[in-house]
Amino acid sequence: MARLLAAHALLADGWAERVAIDIAADGNITEVTVGATDEEAEYLPGHLVPGMIDLHSHAFQRAMAGLAQDRPPGRADFWSWRQRMYGLATTLGPEDLWAIAAALYIDLLKGGYTTVVEFHYLHGSPEGGSYEDPAVMSLALHEAAQEAGIALTLAPVWYARAGIDEEEPSPAQRRFIRPLDGYGEILARVERLFRDDRDRRIAAAVHSLRAVPPERLADFLAEVDRRDPQAPLHIHVAEQPREVEACLAAYGARPVELLADRVDLGPRWCLVHATHVEERERARIATSGAVAGLCPTTEADLGDGLFPFAEYWHQRGIWGVGSDANLFTAAAEELRLLEYGQRLQRGRRLIATRTEEPHCGAALYRAALAGGARAAGRPVGRIAPGFRADLVHLDGDHPLLAGRAGDAVLDTLVFAGGAGGFVRDVMVGGLWRVRGGFHADEERAREGLAAVVRRLQT
Ligand SMILES: [Zn+2]
Repeated sequence: MARLLAAHALLADGWAERVAIDIAADGNITEVTVGATDEEAEYLPGHLVPGMIDLHSHAFQRAMAGLAQDRPPGRADFWSWRQRMYGLATTLGPEDLWAIAAALYIDLLKGGYTTVVEFHYLHGSPEGGSYEDPAVMSLALHEAAQEAGIALTLAPVWYARAGIDEEEPSPAQRRFIRPLDGYGEILARVERLFRDDRDRRIAAAVHSLRAVPPERLADFLAEVDRRDPQAPLHIHVAEQPREVEACLAAYGARPVELLADRVDLGPRWCLVHATHVEERERARIATSGAVAGLCPTTEADLGDGLFPFAEYWHQRGIWGVGSDANLFTAAAEELRLLEYGQRLQRGRRLIATRTEEPHCGAALYRAALAGGARAAGRPVGRIAPGFRADLVHLDGDHPLLAGRAGDAVLDTLVFAGGAGGFVRDVMVGGLWRVRGGFHADEERAREGLAAVVRRLQT
């Protein structure tokens, strides 16, 4: 049992002063008291907010952050980037993945994320065969999360075929592709491992309708529901115009329509990169309660396009953000670019606001907490009894925050915070993982990542 006393805390119904937070040994918040005077509690002088949820990450891609910015032969687009990414994907073993992910997860914590959702498809060996333990790459992510102390929702990805029109998998895809029973084995192994761990959650994913034929979705769902009928379900849905065209040509429907016709689209689903949607598809996502998984920095880097966020916001659709290819590791960067994309396109400011939510950064932050928690399938995103003690303590000594109060603090965090800019301390499941801007294992983790990056150059 621990007790914190926050000078200012963001609660579900707004900011409050002198907030005592009781945390049980299992890492859950048991009681929240406003206006407390407890002298025994650990005092936090800055602003305390729920940690952000990173709803979409491919940890391994961190090793190529900053690369693939040089001209390929031919057109430079998502597909040429994918070739570079495949090159990386064929070189990494479990130890490499562990080292990359451990360093990344520490950076994510320092960037204000307390949960990461891994959309994980590097299942087989680099040559494409099976490891003796088919879940060894999944376990590497779990162990990296343990090292960093970040909470993890792991979504093993089912990847059934090379693409809609492609017969032969590329060498990299061979390690992604598993038969459904092989995929089920990975799910089962991870589900057993996570069962009693409150900082872990099993989810499941289909890579895309490119990689999983729509007629196999029912089999996939049966395989998942057999193990956990509540597991969150993730998919890359409409990232590129070319995949929308291929989907239309093969099935006579756009991907979001096709998915919504085939499954019970609802709060269990997270539709990542719902970038290329028509009005009726956007409305279908918004009314279903599914989460739109938006990854603004990666979508910008890949030239994916802009999700119609202003309309979706107006429809009160649920959404959250993901660091995806992990070029950036601060939650504020994703929220800011999401809003800025709309401002640049529309020639006006403050898109993500409403009469009752006039502060843009605060409105973005609150909405992304709610959507992220849904996509992660965990009791997070709120400072309230029954929720995890996943908390971010902002630096009260920072000159920009010193005199500010209430939602202006979140506006400052989102629009003026860089990588770790205002993040001082980070707690996950009742344990401090970042203190004073530092993580105890960061030096070791950075050396591990550097060794992998160096090896990849040679
Ligand atoms: Zn992705």
